[in-house]
Amino acid sequence: MKRNIKTVAIIGGGPSGCSLATLLKRKGFKVAVFYLEKRPEIIVGESLVPAIVPYLRQLGVEDEVKSYSTYKPGASVWVSKDEEATSPFSFGGGGLPPYAYNVPRTKFDKTIFDLAVREGVIFFNQAAKLEQVGNTDEIKLSDDTITDINDFFNGQPDLIVDASGRSRTISRLLDIPTKEGDRKDIAIFAHLSGAEKIEPYNIHLHRLEKGWNWRIPLPDRISVGVVIDPKHIKEYGSTKEEQYDNFLKSDETLSKFTANAKRETGVAQYNNYQLISQKMYGKNWLLTGDAGGFLDPIFSSGLFLAIKGSFEAAEAIGVGTDAAFKKYQKNQLYELAIWQKLVDTWYSGGLFTLFKVGQDRMDTAFGRFIGPHMQRHLTRIFSGEAVYRNYSRAFLNFVLGPMIRWMKVGRLHNRNIRDLEIK
Ligand SMILES: Cc1cc2nc3c(=O)[nH]c(=O)nc-3n(C[C@H](O)[C@H](O)[C@H](O)COP(=O)(O)OP(=O)(O)OC[C@H]3O[C@@H](n4cnc5c(N)ncnc54)[C@H](O)[C@@H]3O)c2cc1C
Repeated sequence: MKRNIKTVAIIGGGPSGCSLATLLKRKGFKVAVFYLEKRPEIIVGESLVPAIVPYLRQLGVEDEVKSYSTYKPGASVWVSKDEEATSPFSFGGGGLPPYAYNVPRTKFDKTIFDLAVREGVIFFNQAAKLEQVGNTDEIKLSDDTITDINDFFNGQPDLIVDASGRSRTISRLLDIPTKEGDRKDIAIFAHLSGAEKIEPYNIHLHRLEKGWNWRIPLPDRISVGVVIDPKHIKEYGSTKEEQYDNFLKSDETLSKFTANAKRETGVAQYNNYQLISQKMYGKNWLLTGDAGGFLDPIFSSGLFLAIKGSFEAAEAIGVGTDAAFKKYQKNQLYELAIWQKLVDTWYSGGLFTLFKVGQDRMDTAFGRFIGPHMQRHLTRIFSGEAVYRNYSRAFLNFVLGPMIRWMKVGRLHNRNIRDLEIK
């Protein structure tokens, strides 16, 4: 059944809301975005993956993003404090650009926002108030909101899109069932000056004794974040600033890189972020970006999935049939499920074990045969490409499952995967 959609209200002026607004405007819809001008001092989501670059090009903003960002040619991962695995994206081959960008988030968000303004999208600087219609699956803008925006839509919009990120405005209003991830980590982060880098432009990821850490080189700062089980963090102080500063000082790996660093910002904290809504659309609404689901920061997939999701949402809204909305939901849930599998290999220790197995066997004929192949597909996890290639997925499933187990059973490698689990 074709829905008669001509007008769309979008809640949230972040990357998913503004990119969707631009795409819908280009398709001829009447679009308005409700946004909140006041943003936190620092926002997570500063490291992009190569898979996002084709979407930035389609939006027409890659050059602008490049002008204020750090070029990101790869990822450097430390399995332990002395064991590094560096993967330039060029090792991944395939169809993606061999680079991405580390972006100052406020500038990146402004780029996507300004694009929508240039395309003619109307913005209202206020939180939209939504109401459920009776006990149904339908929602509407409150009468107050309609008045505040001078009846911009001539009544109610045909579709309301939730792009409000982790505020999850519609999911909360309608009490939509969610799937929570197993990890209940917290992430604390800040911007530092004077922190050391090893590979100047790569994202740096360290497996720590407790949790893991990112160091993202931005043009004039380094974003340093720690992801940790909340049961550990209380040992480090009672405020998030104390916890952050003390953690950096006391962790053996981080203290080395941050000994001469100065914290230039406050500390931001994110809790319980692994959350996926099990329904992505309803009678007159749709979810996109983090409002639909967010997995985990580890592979920097958030902004890529948010913007790619906007392209898919625009496509579904453009077609406007129930079947198109259903397909959109199926794709989003499927994609998040595949990324979840990859995320699990980081926390379970599978990915680190594989690296160590590879190192141990590099001087054997088997290692020389399989090594480059393995490196290509492991690199594709960090570039975002592994998820979209059946062969990569099958290969990774094999090497991260039966192959690791076989190597242990065959006594070719005597490490236990759980030894490398992130606890
Ligand atoms: C610890 C952590 C680290 C991360 N690191 C990375 C990374 O390195 N790379 C990466 O790509 N991603 C990363 N992410 C994910 C990334 O931050 C998000 O996926 C991305 O910001 C999603 O964009 P969005 O537009 O959906 O939501 P948001 O960026 O959250 O934007 C939502 C917007 O809606 C506004 N809003 C909320 N409620 C209302 C309302 N009622 N009315 C109007 N406006 C409203 C908010 O103010 C906000 O501007 C990380 C996430 C976490 C938790």
